[in-house]
Parts: sequence; structure tokens; C-alpha cells
Amino acid sequence: MPSKRSCGRRYQSLLCPTAKTWGLTYDDGPAFYTTQLLDYLDTANLKSTFFVVGSRVISFPAVLQAEYMAQHQIAVHTWSHPALTTLTNEQIIAELGWTKKAIKDVLGVTPNMMRPPFGDIDDRVRAISMAMGLVPVMWTRISPTETFDTGDFEVHGGTTTVQQVMSNWQGIMNNVTQRQDGFIVLEHDLFQQTVEIATGYILPDAQARGLTIEPVSTCLKRPMADAYIETNNNQTNPPPSGSGAKSISAPSPTSTDQGGTNIGNSSSSGGSGSSGSGAVPSLHFGTAAVLTTFAGVLAGLLSVF
Ligand SMILES: [Zn+2]
Repeated sequence: MPSKRSCGRRYQSLLCPTAKTWGLTYDDGPAFYTTQLLDYLDTANLKSTFFVVGSRVISFPAVLQAEYMAQHQIAVHTWSHPALTTLTNEQIIAELGWTKKAIKDVLGVTPNMMRPPFGDIDDRVRAISMAMGLVPVMWTRISPTETFDTGDFEVHGGTTTVQQVMSNWQGIMNNVTQRQDGFIVLEHDLFQQTVEIATGYILPDAQARGLTIEPVSTCLKRPMADAYIETNNNQTNPPPSGSGAKSISAPSPTSTDQGGTNIGNSSSSGGSGSSGSGAVPSLHFGTAAVLTTFAGVLAGLLSVF
């Protein structure tokens, strides 16, 4: 949750393309104070993306349902908030897969975006995420050490102050006015302090500046329906099991390698579509597949979810 900044490799993260457009996100809920944030967003007629923690989804299912029913976007933020690059393949799959399942059990839909805790990601984590149909979404990075992190999470632990968070936000806003594209900021809905900073200062300031504020899915010019496997009508992103079997029995010529080759490329964002298209058919028609060791282990584990 705090500010680990390691990234194994430079990558192109998803960006909202339109200037002065903020892809609004909150991490680490659902939690007790999330409701306070939802009330503000509702009053202001704003929608957000929530990267939720699976273990908290089962603790606060009604809060997650309130988020979803209010048409906010729900996405995955792991089960127990570990640094994913430190985990084995199997552990990463469990972190993401059980969170997907918890969300599906509570909402009936399966998200197709994820955010790695601490922004900790490398090619391996990215590949597993994409194979599981989850496109990684980071927050805006303007240099190896400078990101659009409000630092709000550190207030609760006393390692930063509200004043510092407000200053961080102003720094972000100063940068935003120079940008040709939109932006994404790291904020949290876990603690009372983070919610109060958001509703008492950051959101009103952003509104006063006339920024366009919307969830990641729509800031990427995609309809909200594309944020979930069950409601996504993109033919290259079939559901992982069951009803999708018929449509993926005749995969398109490109379907076997898209999931891997487009990883980390911003062009893949449009394509939630590419996610998982390689691994999923192998699960349904595994008898014919000759899998590499990695892909075999991955596909076998993915079949759990
Ligand atoms: Zn987090």
C-alpha cells in the first residue's frame, strides 16, 4: 500500500488520451469510509474506477454492490495486496483469480482491468495478468521517480501530512496544465483521512478547474460495458468458460498470440480484447494443445478460475 516504486522494466501504461481528462481511481477498498466517498461522487454526478481488494470484497460486499449499482467501474487489486513481482506464478494467479471470483460472486460480472499493489509489475506479472484477462492500469508517470501519487495513503500511518498531500496534488495539477493527454492519479478509499482529503479538497479542486473526470474505461473511449467480460461485446474477448465455448471454437488467425505480444503496449488497451485470447482457447480445447512449460502451468492454474 505504501510507496514501493520498483518496476522491473519501463513500460507504456494506459493513458487517457484527452487533455485535462482525469481517469479517476481509488484503490484498496471496499471499506467503511468508501460509502462517504460514494455519497460525494453521487452528489457531484461523478463516476470512478475502484481497484478492489478481494479479501475486503467479502468483508464489504454491500459496499461493492453500491459502487457497481452507481455505475462506477470495478477492477482487481489482488486478494491480499502483496508486491506481485515477489510472488510465484501460482501465487499471482491465486491473488488475481480469487479476487475475480469474489467480485463475480458479489456482482455477477468479471472485471477486465487490474492494478498491481505499489505499482509493482514486470513482464512476468504483466503476462500472467493479461492471460487472465486483466489489463494492468497504472497511474501517470512523468519520470522514473515522479508519478501522480498523492501520497494520501501515508497520512494514516503518520508518515506524511494532509498538507503534504495537498501540495502533492497541486504539483500534479501544475503538470496537468502542460500535458497533451489525460492522466491518472493514485488515491485510496481505505481510510477516513484519504476519503476526507478526496471529498474535502481534491475533488472540489478538480471540479473547480473544469477537468473532465471519469472512470478509466470511459476515459479510454470505451463504453462502461466493456469493463466486464460478461457485458463486453468485443468478439476477441470471449468469456473464459461456458457460454464462450462456441464462439472461440473457431479462433481468429491472430488469436493465438495477441495476448502476449501486445502486453504493455498502450495499443492493447483498446483492446481489452486481446487479453486472454491466447490462453483461453487452450483451456477449452486443451487436448489438442501443445503447451510450453510456462504456458502449461499457467493454463492449468487458470482453469481454476
Ligand atoms: Zn493498493
